[in-house]
Amino acid sequence: MSSTPSRGHQLDRVAVTGGTHGNELSGVYLVKHWLQNPSELQRGTFAATPFLANPKATKRCIRYLSQDLNRSFTRTFLTSKETQDGPYEVRQAQEINQLFGPKGSADAFDFIFDLHNTVSNMVACLILDSEENVFTMHMCHYIQKHTQGPCPIYLYGLPGQENYSLQSVAKNGLGLELGPQPHGVLRADVLSHMRALVACGLDFIDLFNQGTSFPAFDIVAYKIIEPMDFPQSPSGELLGFVHPQLQDKDFFPLKPGDPIFQLFSGEEIFYEGDATIYPAFINEAAYYEKGVAFYKMKKCTFSIPPLEAPEASAP
Ligand SMILES: [Zn+2]
Repeated sequence: MSSTPSRGHQLDRVAVTGGTHGNELSGVYLVKHWLQNPSELQRGTFAATPFLANPKATKRCIRYLSQDLNRSFTRTFLTSKETQDGPYEVRQAQEINQLFGPKGSADAFDFIFDLHNTVSNMVACLILDSEENVFTMHMCHYIQKHTQGPCPIYLYGLPGQENYSLQSVAKNGLGLELGPQPHGVLRADVLSHMRALVACGLDFIDLFNQGTSFPAFDIVAYKIIEPMDFPQSPSGELLGFVHPQLQDKDFFPLKPGDPIFQLFSGEEIFYEGDATIYPAFINEAAYYEKGVAFYKMKKCTFSIPPLEAPEASAP
C-alpha cells in the first residue's frame, strides 16, 4: 500500500537503491559512488541512504541469481521461513524489508528511489504503482518540469494484484527506468541523466519538508494493460521478432492494423486490438525469458489533487 504522507509528517527516512538488477549499471555505480561519498544525497531536511540491493548479482553482473529480486516483495516471500536453503533473492528481500520496512508498517521508510536501466527506448521513465499515490505523482510532475527531456509515467499496478516491487517496502516509492542502455554497460548520457533525476526527486522532498504546498494539476500517464508475447511455437521457440517499425517506439501510439512482429519466414504480424495502445519495454532483453515482447499500455489523463505541506516541526 502506498499513501499520501499525512499532514504533519516530513519525509526524513529516504533510501536510494541500485543494483536491484545486478547488470543495470547506472544505479549500481551511482550507489557504489554514493556509498563512498554520500554528500550528493544530503539536503537541508534529510540525508538519503544509498543501498546496493542485490550485491551477489551485481558482483557477477547478472540480473539475479535465483529469482527476480524486484518481484520478491510479496507477503509469501517476505514471511517465508525456509531462508537458509531458500533462494538468495528471498533472503535478500527479507533483509531489505528489515532495513527499510517492514512493508506496510508505520516503521517503514518514507520513500525509496529504485534505480533501473532498460535496453528499450524508455528515455527517463518514472515508474510507480498507481496514480492514487498523490505524493509520488507530485514528485513526477516536479521532475517533468525541472529536468531535461521527456519523463513518461508508467503505472504498473493491476487491480487486485499484490505490489511485489522493492520500492513497495517504503510508504512511497519511485522507480527510475532509464534507457536505452545495454545491460552490463555504462553510458555517460544515461548515468548523468539518472543522477539529475535523483537529485531533482531529493530536491522535491526537501521543498515539501520545508513547508512547500503544491497545487492540483492534470497529468498524462501510461497505465499497464497486459504483456504482449512474442510469436512462439508450442515448444516455446521464437517464431519471429519485433517489427522494425515498432522497434524503439516506446510510448508511441500503436493502432489496430499496425505491424508488431516479423516472422523468420518474412510474414508480418499486425496488432489486432480494437483500440490504440502505447507499447512500453519494447524488446527488453530481460523479458525474453518470459516470452514478453512489450507491454501494452493505455494513455490516461489524471487530475491529481493538491499536496499540502507538512506542518512545521517542533523546534
Ligand atoms: Zn531493472
